[in-house]
Amino acid sequence: MTGGPATVGAVGSGGAGAPPVIELRGAGLTYPGPPPVEALRPCTLTVRAGEYVTIVGPSGSGKSTLLNILGLLDVPTAGTYRLNGTDTTAVPDRQRTALRGHRIGFVFQSFHLLPHRTALENVALATVYNQAVPRRQRRARAREALERVGLAHRTDASPPHLSGGERQRVAIARALVARPALLLCDELTGNLDTVTAESVLALLDELHGDGMTVLVITHDPAVAARGRRTVRIRDGVLTEQPAVAA
Ligand code: ADP
Repeated sequence: MTGGPATVGAVGSGGAGAPPVIELRGAGLTYPGPPPVEALRPCTLTVRAGEYVTIVGPSGSGKSTLLNILGLLDVPTAGTYRLNGTDTTAVPDRQRTALRGHRIGFVFQSFHLLPHRTALENVALATVYNQAVPRRQRRARAREALERVGLAHRTDASPPHLSGGERQRVAIARALVARPALLLCDELTGNLDTVTAESVLALLDELHGDGMTVLVITHDPAVAARGRRTVRIRDGVLTEQPAVAA
Protein backbone atom coordinates (compact mmCIF):
# COMPACT_ATOMS: atom_id res chain seq x y z
CA MET A 1 0.00 0.00 0.00
CA THR A 2 1.31 3.46 -0.88
CA GLY A 3 0.19 7.02 -0.36
CA GLY A 4 -1.72 8.33 2.66
CA PRO A 5 -2.75 6.63 5.86
CA ALA A 6 -4.31 3.19 5.61
CA THR A 7 -8.04 3.35 6.20
CA VAL A 8 -9.40 0.26 7.88
CA GLY A 9 -12.91 -0.66 8.84
CA ALA A 10 -14.92 2.48 8.12
CA VAL A 11 -17.94 0.23 8.53
CA GLY A 12 -17.43 -2.97 10.43
CA SER A 13 -19.29 -6.25 10.27
CA GLY A 14 -21.62 -7.08 13.11
CA GLY A 15 -21.44 -3.62 14.62
CA ALA A 16 -22.41 -1.72 11.46
CA GLY A 17 -24.40 1.34 12.47
CA ALA A 18 -23.43 0.94 16.14
CA PRO A 19 -21.47 3.78 17.74
CA PRO A 20 -17.70 3.55 17.38
CA VAL A 21 -15.75 2.36 20.41
CA ILE A 22 -12.31 2.75 18.81
CA GLU A 23 -11.51 5.46 16.27
CA LEU A 24 -7.90 5.83 15.20
CA ARG A 25 -7.46 8.71 12.76
CA GLY A 26 -4.04 8.99 11.16
CA ALA A 27 -2.69 7.54 14.38
CA GLY A 28 0.94 6.46 14.34
CA LEU A 29 3.82 6.04 16.71
CA THR A 30 7.49 6.68 16.13
CA TYR A 31 9.90 5.72 18.92
CA PRO A 32 12.38 8.59 19.21
CA GLY A 33 15.53 6.48 19.11
CA PRO A 34 18.13 7.27 17.91
CA PRO A 35 17.54 6.06 15.36
CA PRO A 36 13.80 6.76 15.28
CA VAL A 37 11.64 3.68 14.64
CA GLU A 38 8.27 4.18 12.96
CA ALA A 39 6.65 1.22 14.71
CA LEU A 40 3.08 2.15 13.71
CA ARG A 41 2.54 3.99 10.44
CA PRO A 42 -0.31 6.51 10.49
CA CYS A 43 -3.46 4.44 10.24
CA THR A 44 -7.20 4.79 10.46
CA LEU A 45 -9.23 2.11 12.21
CA THR A 46 -12.82 2.06 13.41
CA VAL A 47 -14.18 -0.64 15.71
CA ARG A 48 -17.87 -0.33 16.54
CA ALA A 49 -19.73 -1.46 19.61
CA GLY A 50 -20.37 -5.19 19.53
CA GLU A 51 -17.68 -6.05 16.99
CA TYR A 52 -15.17 -8.88 17.42
CA VAL A 53 -11.97 -7.83 15.68
CA THR A 54 -8.65 -9.63 15.56
CA ILE A 55 -5.33 -8.03 14.72
CA VAL A 56 -2.71 -10.46 13.48
CA GLY A 57 0.92 -10.03 12.62
CA PRO A 58 4.34 -11.58 13.12
CA SER A 59 6.85 -10.65 15.78
CA GLY A 60 8.14 -7.12 15.35
CA SER A 61 5.18 -6.04 13.20
CA GLY A 62 3.93 -3.43 15.68
CA LYS A 63 1.30 -5.37 17.66
CA SER A 64 2.52 -4.31 21.10
CA THR A 65 2.83 -0.72 19.94
CA LEU A 66 -0.77 -0.78 18.72
CA LEU A 67 -1.94 -2.56 21.89
CA ASN A 68 -0.27 0.08 24.04
CA ILE A 69 -2.03 2.83 22.11
CA LEU A 70 -5.43 1.12 22.16
CA GLY A 71 -5.02 0.34 25.87
CA LEU A 72 -4.09 3.96 26.66
CA LEU A 73 -0.67 2.86 27.90
CA ASP A 74 1.03 4.97 25.25
CA VAL A 75 0.00 8.03 23.25
CA PRO A 76 0.37 8.13 19.47
CA THR A 77 3.01 10.56 18.22
CA ALA A 78 0.76 11.37 15.23
CA GLY A 79 -3.00 11.53 14.75
CA THR A 80 -5.79 10.94 17.23
CA TYR A 81 -7.38 8.08 19.13
CA ARG A 82 -10.99 8.44 20.24
CA LEU A 83 -12.35 5.92 22.72
CA ASN A 84 -16.13 6.02 23.12
CA GLY A 85 -16.05 9.44 21.52
CA THR A 86 -13.41 10.94 23.82
CA ASP A 87 -10.24 12.15 22.12
CA THR A 88 -7.75 10.41 24.40
CA THR A 89 -4.84 12.26 22.81
CA ALA A 90 -6.24 15.57 24.04
CA VAL A 91 -6.83 14.77 27.73
CA PRO A 92 -4.44 14.91 30.69
CA ASP A 93 -2.75 11.72 31.94
CA ARG A 94 -5.08 11.47 34.93
CA GLN A 95 -8.14 11.35 32.73
CA ARG A 96 -6.49 8.81 30.43
CA THR A 97 -5.82 6.59 33.44
CA ALA A 98 -9.45 6.89 34.54
CA LEU A 99 -10.65 6.10 31.03
CA ARG A 100 -8.42 3.04 30.97
CA GLY A 101 -9.93 1.74 34.21
CA HIS A 102 -13.51 2.50 33.28
CA ARG A 103 -13.57 1.56 29.62
CA ILE A 104 -10.98 -1.13 28.97
CA GLY A 105 -10.66 -4.66 30.28
CA PHE A 106 -7.25 -6.19 29.61
CA VAL A 107 -6.53 -9.87 29.15
CA PHE A 108 -2.89 -10.88 28.77
CA GLN A 109 -1.01 -14.05 27.91
CA SER A 110 0.25 -14.25 31.50
CA PHE A 111 -2.64 -14.24 33.91
CA HIS A 112 -1.02 -11.97 36.54
CA LEU A 113 -3.08 -13.40 39.40
CA LEU A 114 -2.12 -13.14 43.05
CA PRO A 115 -1.37 -16.73 44.12
CA HIS A 116 -2.39 -16.39 47.76
CA ARG A 117 -5.76 -14.82 47.10
CA THR A 118 -8.95 -16.57 46.05
CA ALA A 119 -10.41 -16.15 42.59
CA LEU A 120 -13.05 -13.86 44.09
CA GLU A 121 -10.43 -11.72 45.82
CA ASN A 122 -8.32 -11.52 42.67
CA VAL A 123 -11.26 -10.14 40.74
CA ALA A 124 -12.52 -7.87 43.53
CA LEU A 125 -9.04 -6.43 44.19
CA ALA A 126 -8.88 -5.23 40.60
CA THR A 127 -11.59 -2.71 41.45
CA VAL A 128 -9.88 -1.15 44.48
CA TYR A 129 -8.39 1.72 42.51
CA ASN A 130 -11.26 1.88 40.06
CA GLN A 131 -13.99 4.35 40.87
CA ALA A 132 -16.18 2.72 38.23
CA VAL A 133 -17.03 0.09 40.86
CA PRO A 134 -18.47 1.39 44.14
CA ARG A 135 -16.67 -0.01 47.17
CA ARG A 136 -19.73 -1.76 48.59
CA GLN A 137 -20.36 -3.56 45.31
CA ARG A 138 -16.86 -4.97 44.82
CA ARG A 139 -17.48 -8.52 45.97
CA ALA A 140 -20.93 -8.76 44.37
CA ARG A 141 -19.54 -7.52 41.08
CA ALA A 142 -16.60 -9.92 41.30
CA ARG A 143 -18.99 -12.81 41.94
CA GLU A 144 -21.13 -11.74 38.99
CA ALA A 145 -18.06 -11.58 36.71
CA LEU A 146 -16.90 -15.04 37.85
CA GLU A 147 -20.38 -16.41 37.19
CA ARG A 148 -20.24 -14.88 33.73
CA VAL A 149 -17.08 -16.85 32.87
CA GLY A 150 -18.47 -20.11 34.27
CA LEU A 151 -16.55 -20.12 37.56
CA ALA A 152 -19.33 -19.63 40.09
CA HIS A 153 -18.23 -22.90 41.76
CA ARG A 154 -14.54 -21.87 41.99
CA THR A 155 -14.76 -18.46 43.68
CA ASP A 156 -12.91 -19.63 46.79
CA ALA A 157 -10.08 -21.43 44.97
CA SER A 158 -6.68 -19.79 44.72
CA PRO A 159 -4.72 -19.77 41.44
CA PRO A 160 -2.40 -22.71 42.33
CA HIS A 161 -5.54 -24.84 42.63
CA LEU A 162 -6.97 -23.73 39.30
CA SER A 163 -6.22 -25.14 35.86
CA GLY A 164 -4.63 -22.94 33.19
CA GLY A 165 -7.99 -22.43 31.52
CA GLU A 166 -9.63 -21.53 34.84
CA ARG A 167 -6.88 -19.03 35.58
CA GLN A 168 -7.43 -17.34 32.25
CA ARG A 169 -11.17 -17.28 33.00
CA VAL A 170 -10.45 -15.55 36.31
CA ALA A 171 -8.31 -13.06 34.39
CA ILE A 172 -11.20 -12.51 31.97
CA ALA A 173 -13.60 -12.04 34.91
CA ARG A 174 -11.16 -9.48 36.32
CA ALA A 175 -11.19 -7.71 32.94
CA LEU A 176 -15.01 -7.67 32.93
CA VAL A 177 -15.62 -6.59 36.52
CA ALA A 178 -15.72 -2.85 35.81
CA ARG A 179 -18.10 -3.50 32.87
CA PRO A 180 -15.75 -2.07 30.27
CA ALA A 181 -16.72 -0.94 26.79
CA LEU A 182 -13.83 -2.89 25.26
CA LEU A 183 -12.19 -6.22 26.03
CA LEU A 184 -8.59 -5.93 24.83
CA CYS A 185 -6.81 -9.28 24.65
CA ASP A 186 -3.11 -9.81 24.00
CA GLU A 187 -2.13 -13.36 22.96
CA LEU A 188 -4.68 -14.62 25.47
CA THR A 189 -4.23 -18.28 24.55
CA GLY A 190 -0.42 -18.17 24.35
CA ASN A 191 0.04 -20.16 27.58
CA LEU A 192 -2.75 -22.66 26.99
CA ASP A 193 -2.92 -26.06 25.31
CA THR A 194 -5.13 -26.39 22.25
CA VAL A 195 -8.21 -27.78 24.02
CA THR A 196 -8.07 -25.20 26.81
CA ALA A 197 -7.42 -22.42 24.30
CA GLU A 198 -10.55 -23.50 22.44
CA SER A 199 -12.67 -23.20 25.58
CA VAL A 200 -11.32 -19.69 26.24
CA LEU A 201 -12.01 -18.70 22.62
CA ALA A 202 -15.52 -20.14 22.96
CA LEU A 203 -15.99 -17.89 26.00
CA LEU A 204 -14.96 -14.89 23.87
CA ASP A 205 -17.57 -15.96 21.29
CA GLU A 206 -20.17 -15.96 24.08
CA LEU A 207 -19.13 -12.54 25.36
CA HIS A 208 -19.29 -11.22 21.81
CA GLY A 209 -22.74 -12.83 21.51
CA ASP A 210 -23.77 -10.85 24.59
CA GLY A 211 -22.74 -7.64 22.86
CA MET A 212 -19.22 -7.12 24.22
CA THR A 213 -16.76 -5.36 21.93
CA VAL A 214 -13.78 -7.67 21.65
CA LEU A 215 -10.36 -6.91 20.18
CA VAL A 216 -7.74 -9.66 20.13
CA ILE A 217 -4.12 -9.10 19.17
CA THR A 218 -2.24 -12.24 18.17
CA HIS A 219 0.48 -13.73 16.02
CA ASP A 220 -1.57 -16.93 15.67
CA PRO A 221 -3.65 -17.20 12.46
CA ALA A 222 -5.99 -19.76 14.09
CA VAL A 223 -6.83 -17.30 16.88
CA ALA A 224 -7.13 -14.47 14.36
CA ALA A 225 -9.62 -16.52 12.32
CA ARG A 226 -12.06 -16.45 15.26
CA GLY A 227 -12.71 -12.75 14.82
CA ARG A 228 -15.61 -11.59 12.71
CA ARG A 229 -13.16 -9.12 11.19
CA THR A 230 -9.43 -9.51 10.85
CA VAL A 231 -6.91 -6.72 10.40
CA ARG A 232 -3.36 -7.65 9.44
CA ILE A 233 -0.38 -5.69 10.72
CA ARG A 234 2.99 -5.90 9.01
CA ASP A 235 5.92 -3.51 9.33
CA GLY A 236 3.63 -1.15 11.22
CA VAL A 237 1.00 -1.03 8.46
CA LEU A 238 -2.61 -2.10 9.08
CA THR A 239 -4.53 -3.80 6.28
CA GLU A 240 -8.09 -5.05 6.53
CA GLN A 241 -8.46 -8.69 5.47
CA PRO A 242 -11.35 -9.43 3.12
CA ALA A 243 -14.34 -10.95 4.89
CA VAL A 244 -14.68 -14.71 4.45
CA ALA A 245 -18.14 -15.76 3.30
CA ALA A 246 -20.01 -17.65 6.02
P1 ADP B 1 5.36 -6.84 18.03
O1 ADP B 1 4.57 -6.64 19.28
O2 ADP B 1 4.50 -7.16 16.84
O3 ADP B 1 6.45 -7.85 18.21
P2 ADP B 1 6.43 -4.19 18.57
O4 ADP B 1 5.29 -3.23 18.58
O5 ADP B 1 6.98 -4.62 19.88
O6 ADP B 1 6.06 -5.45 17.64
O7 ADP B 1 7.65 -3.54 17.76
C1 ADP B 1 7.49 -2.89 16.49
C2 ADP B 1 8.82 -2.29 16.09
O8 ADP B 1 9.16 -1.25 16.98
C3 ADP B 1 9.97 -3.28 16.12
O9 ADP B 1 10.84 -2.95 15.07
C4 ADP B 1 10.62 -3.00 17.45
O10 ADP B 1 11.99 -3.32 17.43
C5 ADP B 1 10.40 -1.50 17.61
N1 ADP B 1 10.28 -1.06 19.02
C6 ADP B 1 9.45 -1.54 19.94
N2 ADP B 1 9.57 -0.87 21.10
C7 ADP B 1 10.54 0.06 20.91
C8 ADP B 1 11.15 1.09 21.71
N3 ADP B 1 10.75 1.30 22.98
N4 ADP B 1 12.11 1.84 21.17
C9 ADP B 1 12.50 1.66 19.89
N5 ADP B 1 11.97 0.73 19.06
C10 ADP B 1 11.01 -0.07 19.56
